[in-house]
Amino acid sequence: MSTLVWFRNDLRTTDNPALFYARQQGPVTACFVVSDMQWRAHDVGDVRLAFLGRSVNELAQQLALLGIPLQIINAAEFSDVPKAVLELAQRCGASALAYNAEYPVNEKQRDLAVERLLTSNHISCQVYHGGITLPPGSVMTKSDSPYSVFSPFKRRWLEVLQPDEIKPLAAPPAQSDPVPVKQLESLAGVELSLAADLWPAGEIVAREKLKKFFRNAVSNYAKDRDVPSVNGTSTLSPYLSVGSISSNQCLYAAQQYNKGALNSPATQSWVNEIIWREFYRHVIALYPHVNKNRAFRTAYDALRWRDAPHDLLAWQRGETGYPLVDAGMRQLNKTGWMHNRLRMVTAMFLTKHLLIDWRQGERYFMQKLVDGDFASNNGGWQWSASTGTDAAPYFRIFNPTTQGQRFDKTGVFTRAMIPALSQVPDRHLFEPHKSELQIDYPQPIVEHTFARQRAIDLFKAIGDNTSA
Ligand code: FAD
Repeated sequence: MSTLVWFRNDLRTTDNPALFYARQQGPVTACFVVSDMQWRAHDVGDVRLAFLGRSVNELAQQLALLGIPLQIINAAEFSDVPKAVLELAQRCGASALAYNAEYPVNEKQRDLAVERLLTSNHISCQVYHGGITLPPGSVMTKSDSPYSVFSPFKRRWLEVLQPDEIKPLAAPPAQSDPVPVKQLESLAGVELSLAADLWPAGEIVAREKLKKFFRNAVSNYAKDRDVPSVNGTSTLSPYLSVGSISSNQCLYAAQQYNKGALNSPATQSWVNEIIWREFYRHVIALYPHVNKNRAFRTAYDALRWRDAPHDLLAWQRGETGYPLVDAGMRQLNKTGWMHNRLRMVTAMFLTKHLLIDWRQGERYFMQKLVDGDFASNNGGWQWSASTGTDAAPYFRIFNPTTQGQRFDKTGVFTRAMIPALSQVPDRHLFEPHKSELQIDYPQPIVEHTFARQRAIDLFKAIGDNTSA
């Protein structure tokens, strides 16, 4: 039996169940579908598109070594995909299509349409779960409902997980001598060289990064993960988001490090983050309203956010007058990535201090992030805006000044991102308007105590006893 393997957010040859099992059944052809208009409509930004294109090129090279050609086809919108995939499958003489599931509603609808068309043309569809360790529906409450809070989800997730399940699959055996490789030079109009020095792509790079993280940083992760000036986290998020590496490969590295156990004091905090990633995938799969621009806690759809384009622009540019917020936004604009602590601080500043709709921030992050991922981005934004699953309570509002003093004590990170502050002494670094120096840096666009109370009053009027 010949199978067409459709690669999407699983751009790797190792631990790829769709590829592995399809190959066990016989010869395979691989494909990747370019949906440029759909991606743009979903705010996928240039840095991410360039990274995606480079990741496809790296995949093509790895597949070519296995004798598997990668066909790249165009279907500008998701509605064009079924016909394009059918035509390719027929051209290759495939009797089956195999792919790893994606969980956002639009992707699920696209896949259903593909399945209907292909099965009506006598091509069977085989769906695997290569983007997640435990698929949506497998971690449920006793009453068979999806979880809406992380901690009980995590407990159940750890109970359901069979330790043997995470052992990664090998790459499939080669089916012929290496085949020639075609390489993309651009994707959706974006040159692939964009930010290539910052974000080299592919599964070999990703596996090397994982090894390096376990060699150098995992044992200090719990301590260092909140300090943006330290390289204390794995920076694997872009690679996980395009699937150059799998969550199983990450968890297996922890298991190997602990000589058999998944968790140990050294790896626990990091494994937790991988489970957060799983949790948000379950949320978007099992609470469809979250995919439709709605708050998880639906009562908060009634919040009256401010329409404040100048404030939004100042936040986007990193010109709010709050150094840690601005340093985070400048890191995002400059590198396509932002440290997790700063994602929380900047998101909370936009939604609480400026009272700007979290969807505006979610959108801007998607346009800029190299790791832009609908489930994690939506989850992070709704957590910060207090509209999400186990969101930060609305009255617990980060003070951006003290966050700076606490998490960038030496000011190394903030000064690196905002050179205008390089001469400001430590005691005034996070309140530079209090220093007597003449510096080219804006005054705070809003006063913290006033903004905090304004947000509390607005959220209180809605009430926090709401649920999905
Ligand atoms: P590490 O600390 O090394 O963690 C390992 C992996 O666990 C990460 O690569 C990531 O896949 C996962 N992870 C870590 N923290 C979280 C989290 N809080 N939620 C879900 N998964 C997590 N992550 C994305 O991958 N894409 C996004 O678009 C995204 N948007 C976010 C928006 C906001 C407002 C917030 C608060 C968080 C967002 N996150 C997003 C989560 C998190 O900030 C990043 O995953 C993390 O900073 C990536 O750095 P790292 O790879 O070094 O993570």
